[in-house]
Amino acid sequence: MIEKEYFNVADIFGENVFNDAVMQERLPKKTYQKLKETIREGKDLDLETADVVAHEMKEWAIEKGATHYTHWFQPLTGVTAEKHDSFITAPRPSGNVLMSFSGKELIKGEPDASSFPSGGLRATFEARGYTTWDCTSPAFVRHDETGAVLCIPTAFCSYKGEALDQKTPLLRSMEAINNQALRLLRLFGNTTSHHVRPSVGVEQEYFIIDREDFLKRKDLMYTGRTLFGAMPPKGQEMDDHYFGTIPARIGALMRDVDKELWKLGVPAKTEHNEVAPGQHELAPIYEEANIAVDHNQLMMETLRRVANRHGLQCLLHEKPFAGVNGSGKHNNWSLVTDDGINMLDPGKTPHENLQFLLVLTCILAAVDDHADLLRESAADVGNDHRLGGAEAPPAIVSVYLGEQLDDVLTQLINTGAATHSISGQKMRTGVSSLPDFMKDATDRNRTSPFAFTGNKFEFRMVGSEDSVGEPNIVLNTIVAEAFSNACDVLEQADNFNVAIHDYIKKLATAHQRIVFNGDGYSEEWVKEAERRGLKNIASMVDAIPALTTEKTIETFEKFHVFNRTELESRSDIEYDTYAKKMNIEAKTMMDMAEKQIIPAVIKYETKLADSINSVKSAVGMVPKTQESLLHKTEDLLNATNEALDQLVQAVLKGMSLSDHKERANYYYEVVSPAMEALRKPVDELEMVVDKELWPMPSYGDMLFEV
Ligand code: ADP
Ligand code: MG
Repeated sequence: MIEKEYFNVADIFGENVFNDAVMQERLPKKTYQKLKETIREGKDLDLETADVVAHEMKEWAIEKGATHYTHWFQPLTGVTAEKHDSFITAPRPSGNVLMSFSGKELIKGEPDASSFPSGGLRATFEARGYTTWDCTSPAFVRHDETGAVLCIPTAFCSYKGEALDQKTPLLRSMEAINNQALRLLRLFGNTTSHHVRPSVGVEQEYFIIDREDFLKRKDLMYTGRTLFGAMPPKGQEMDDHYFGTIPARIGALMRDVDKELWKLGVPAKTEHNEVAPGQHELAPIYEEANIAVDHNQLMMETLRRVANRHGLQCLLHEKPFAGVNGSGKHNNWSLVTDDGINMLDPGKTPHENLQFLLVLTCILAAVDDHADLLRESAADVGNDHRLGGAEAPPAIVSVYLGEQLDDVLTQLINTGAATHSISGQKMRTGVSSLPDFMKDATDRNRTSPFAFTGNKFEFRMVGSEDSVGEPNIVLNTIVAEAFSNACDVLEQADNFNVAIHDYIKKLATAHQRIVFNGDGYSEEWVKEAERRGLKNIASMVDAIPALTTEKTIETFEKFHVFNRTELESRSDIEYDTYAKKMNIEAKTMMDMAEKQIIPAVIKYETKLADSINSVKSAVGMVPKTQESLLHKTEDLLNATNEALDQLVQAVLKGMSLSDHKERANYYYEVVSPAMEALRKPVDELEMVVDKELWPMPSYGDMLFEV
C-alpha cells in the first residue's frame, strides 16, 4: 500500500528511537545522569542502573507495539543479525503472563554464535559469543512484516573477548583517534575540547528494478547481479538519467523510505537519480561514526524492505549490470570536537593554519603508508567488478587536494613555509538577474578515490553493499598513528614553532607522491602511479594480504584495535567469503545455462528448422537468411556448451580445494575467466534468439521500464 497523506517531518522524526529526549523524560534523574556518563565518558554501567533503563525501555517499546526485543549486531557476513526474544515471562498459576526485560538482558546477550564467520577464532564446539549493548548508539523500535521489535545496537565478541563483528573494532578505533587527536589539539594550546569523534556521512547508491523482473532472474535472486545479459541499444551515453526527473514509482518509494528512516532517526537528506539508468542515490546528514555505520545498515535494510512493498526490487550490488555504471558509497569523514571544532576545516587562509596543515599532512602520511590497507577495506567480491574498471574510482589509492591546498603544500615543500592561499573568486554568471557569488577556491574531482572536499575527506572506493565499518576502522586507526607519531616528536620540541614547520615540511615532502589532482581514469595515471611506486591492486584476493603484513599488525596492535589473531581470522574469513560467493555465482551460471538458456536456444533452432522445412516444401528452395541464422545459432550453442563444460570442470576442482586462500585464488584465476568465457557466447545468443523465447527479462526491460 502506497501512502498518500502528507505529514510534518519534525513530528515523526525519531519517533521510534529511545533517544535523549525520551530518556530525559522517562528515566529518573539519577539513572539518566549515570547513563549519560557511560555514553559520554565510557564509564561502566552498574546493574542497578541498567535494570531501571531496561524497564523504562521496555515500557516505551510496548507502547510502540513491540512484542519482542533483539540484540542487533553486525557479524562479518556483511549484513546485520538478530535473534528475537519476546518480553513474556513464564505464565503464572492464574494463566497470565507478565512482560519483563532486565538490565542483564539489556547489557548482554548470548546468541549461539557458531554459525557466524569467525575465521577459526572459535571452534564450532565453543559456541559462545556475546553481544554487549553499545549505549552510544540509541535503541529503536522497528515496525515491519514481523511486527514491532525493540532493537538494541550491540557489539559481538567471542568468549575470549575477540571481536567477531564490525562494531567492536570500530569503537576501539574511535577511542584511538580520540586519544591521539586530543594530544594533537593540546599541542596547540586547546584545553577546552574533551572529545574528538570522527563524523561520517555515507552516500548510498542503488538500483531499482521491477520485482517481477527480478523474480524471473535466478542470477539476481541468488547473487545480486546479472551473470548474463546483452547491452540494450541505449545505455547511459546520453547522460539523461543523471539528476533527471524522478519517475513516479521511484518517487513514491523514496518518500516511503524517507518516512521510515526519519521515524528511526536516520537523517535522510538528499536523493537523486544517478548516472546509470535505474540507478539512484540517498545520502543522510553526517553523524558520529558508529551511529553512521548503524544507520547505513538501517538504510540498506529499509531500501530493500520498502522496495518490495512497492513491487520493486532494490539492488545494492556493486555491479548488477555489466557495461553499466556500478554502485558505490562515498564515505565522507572528518574529525569534530565536542565543542564543535572540525579539525579538517582549513579556514579562509589555510597557509596560516598550522594545526590544519599538521592534520592534513598527517592524513597524507597515513594514507600513503597504509594505502594497501585502505584499498583492502573497500574490497568485496562485488567491488572487484567496479574498482579499476573504467569508472569511479580507480584501484590506485591517491589523494586529491585541489588547487588551493596543493599550492600551499608546494610552497611548504619548496620554501619550508607557506605565505599565501589562492582564494575563491567571484563567479560571474553574465546574467544580470542571477546573483554573482563567491565560488569555492577549489573545484571538484570526481575521479579521485580519496578527495578533500572542503572540510572533510571523501573515500569513494567503498562498495555499495559493503559495511562502512571497515573503512572507518582503518581511517581512524591509521590517522591516530600519524597523529601519535607527530605528537611524539612535537611534545618534546624545545622550539615548537620551528619544530612544527619542520615536521609539516618533512611529511609533505615525504608523502607528496600520494597527491594526484589529475584524471584518475586515464592510462597516463596508471603509468605515472607505477613510476611513483604507488600500488595498483586489481582484485580482492590481491588486496587481502594487506590485512596481515607486519606493518598492519603493528599499527592495529599499538592502538588496541585488532590483535594478530583477529587480523588473521579476518583475512581467513575474506578468502573464504570470496571463494564461497564465486562458487555460488558459477553454479548459478551453470544452472541457468543448462536449464534455461540451452533449452530456449534449442527451441529457437527447432522453430528455424521448421520454418526452413516449410519454405523448402512450399517453394522448393532453402531460405538463405533462416539457414545462416540457424548456422550462427548452432555455432554459438556449441561454444556455449563447451564453455559450460569447462566451467563445470573448474568448479569441481575449486570445490575440492580446502585451504581458503588457495581456493580463493583459484576461483579468481581459473573460475572467474571460465565464467566470462561462458557469458560471451550466451550474450551473443541473446542478440540472435527470438525475444519471445529468451527465458528471462533483458537489460532493456529491467533498466528502462520502471
Ligand atoms: P558533496 O557534494 O561533497 O558530496 P554533500 O554536502 O552532499 O557534499 O555531502 C555529502 C555527504 O557528506 C553527506 O552525507 C553529508 O552529510 C556529509 N558531510 C558533510 N560534511 C561533513 C563532515 N564535516 N564530515 C563528515 N561528513 C560530512
Ligand atoms: Mg559526494
